[in-house]
This record gives sequence, C-alpha cells and structure tokens, in this order.
Amino acid sequence: MAIHLTFQRDRCKGCSLCVTVCPKHILALDTVTNVKGYRPAVCTDEAACVGCASCAKICPDSIITIEKD
Ligand code: SF4
Ligand code: SF4
Repeated sequence: MAIHLTFQRDRCKGCSLCVTVCPKHILALDTVTNVKGYRPAVCTDEAACVGCASCAKICPDSIITIEKD
C-alpha cells in the first residue's frame, strides 16, 4: 500500500502541531516560507508514513490530506 500526503502549503501557518504528533518523526517545517511568510510543514520521508492520520486530525486548518492506494 502506498500512502501519499498532500499539504495545502500556502494555507499552512507553521504551528508544528503535526510535526509534534507524527509517530514516525517524518514531518518538519520547510526552510522556505510560503506566501503567508510561514515555514510550512513538509514530509521528509513519505515512504516511512504509516497512514495513521494523526497529522491530518490535529491540524487546525485541515491542510493535510492522506491518500492510500
Ligand atoms: S499519517 Fe501518521 S505517520 Fe504519516 S505523516 Fe501523518 S502522523 Fe506521520
Ligand atoms: S498542523 Fe497544520 S497548520 Fe500546523 S504546521 Fe501542520 S499542516 Fe501547518
């Protein structure tokens, strides 16, 4: 099963809640800012994602979408 994460990069406010909650420690804040001037969350190793959806659930702005196929 492949898991694909999609971030609405320009809506992210870089709050780090998703980074904190990920059990695989594969989320981080990007070094490059988005249109709002925040460092948005990115996945550093999508292949290691277990699809637990903790990141998507905790995000206050529903920025993360998880697709499994
Ligand atoms: S779905 Fe789970 S393992 Fe994958 S990035 Fe989100 S919190 Fe981490
Ligand atoms: S929880 Fe949502 S708003 Fe906060 S850093 Fe993660 S994706 Fe961005």
